Amino acid sequence: MSQFSFFQSVSNYFDNAAQHLKYPKGLLDQIKVPNNVLSLKFPVKIGSKIEIIEAYRVQHSHHKVPCKGGIRYAMGVNQDEVTALAALMTFKCAIVDVPFGGAKGGIRIEAKNYTDTQLQRITRRYTTELIKKNFIGPGIDVPAPDYGTGAKEMAWILDTYSTFNPNQIDAYGCVTGKPVALGGIRGRTEATGLGVFYGIREFCRLKDEMKALGLTTGVEGKTVVIQGFGNVGYWSAKFFHDAGAIVTGIAEYDGTVYNAKGLDIDALLKHVKATGSIKKFKGAKNLPSAEGLELECDILIPAAIENVIHKGNAKNVKAKIIGEAANGPITPDGEKILLKKKVVILPDTFLNAGGVTVSYFEWLKNLSHVRFGRMDKRFYENSTTLMLDTVERVTNKKVNQRDRKQIVKGADEVDLVYSGLEETMISAFHAIRDTHKRKKDITDLRTAAFVVSIDKIATSYLSLGIFP
Ligand code: GLU
Repeated sequence: MSQFSFFQSVSNYFDNAAQHLKYPKGLLDQIKVPNNVLSLKFPVKIGSKIEIIEAYRVQHSHHKVPCKGGIRYAMGVNQDEVTALAALMTFKCAIVDVPFGGAKGGIRIEAKNYTDTQLQRITRRYTTELIKKNFIGPGIDVPAPDYGTGAKEMAWILDTYSTFNPNQIDAYGCVTGKPVALGGIRGRTEATGLGVFYGIREFCRLKDEMKALGLTTGVEGKTVVIQGFGNVGYWSAKFFHDAGAIVTGIAEYDGTVYNAKGLDIDALLKHVKATGSIKKFKGAKNLPSAEGLELECDILIPAAIENVIHKGNAKNVKAKIIGEAANGPITPDGEKILLKKKVVILPDTFLNAGGVTVSYFEWLKNLSHVRFGRMDKRFYENSTTLMLDTVERVTNKKVNQRDRKQIVKGADEVDLVYSGLEETMISAFHAIRDTHKRKKDITDLRTAAFVVSIDKIATSYLSLGIFP
């Protein structure tokens, strides 16, 4: 494993990037350190016993407010981990121009050992603690799903928050990743996986980069292996599969399934739902969990947790491109080995920012109290129909029905979310790549991403006029 703690790894990446910028040390230190750290221990009745639950919320940066970041439920949760993840949120938001400071929360539990009623009790108590400490609110700090949580938990958070703030008109904006029926936004569930897909696809479009790796351009036909088959892993797999890539392997904590011809992603999901495990999927080979990361493939996507590629296994990785869908999946020691092998790493701070980007859209929707597309969809359809009718009349030619339908269709909420996310990922990718190309001494995309991000955060602080 790594010689660094997770937060030290993030700070290490930060320091590497900061060398390429000319900001005063005090300013860089302010950007690096976590601003508020809330550590909690609270009692919850589980069965006939009282359990003391350990939980955290770290607000890493207030250079923009509210703070933003998910809440994870996992046994690996501790203060260092949550702090590291909060810091990554700060840099991530800056890279994709989401105007929030970074935060993260965590509850140290194994979610599958609790019933829904017990999980609800824990989540509501955690939210109450956040309310008491002024650590949640649409203008203060806005949680979201992360590892081990989803729309269900977000609904409980919203309900608890609104109960304590009954007259707050913007209460829906206190949390994102909610069910659509409770102020959520269409497209949020798949957002991180879709962002991962858009980000890698953009890189694969570059002829010179693909040539250097001995690959053809485009996603189609590329072999992909994914570690993790939760929300992010499943959706990444699905988008690659639908775009014509061959998803040959999926690794989970209890095993890896492999099929050189490609796995049917939706059939695999059904199998996991029915059997509770990825193992024994029809037509696929069963391999040990750890071997997933070492499979022959063009693109490897770690989409589970941090520190999975390290000094011990980096030399066995055969992928040419690694897309970090998880937060912090590669340790600094592991990264050194991979970069030496000329593996291209698309870093987490950029690649998995789709989730928070669409969370931002959800928050905007909540504050504006109107669904995207509601005001202009019909207006667009009517005026485009009129335009086509006019063109047909003056030219005496007919547009075929299929084209007409496509041209005339106004955007629904999900269309706008997808296009907003696509634009965000493509622009962010090119900003990072341009920095990488421009600064010859920056040797990798992670450092370039940190440079882009630190630069933006420093500019915010400098505009405040508190740093000389
Ligand atoms: N948990 C996700 C992340 O790590 C999403 C955070 C959010 O939407 O606020 O980026």
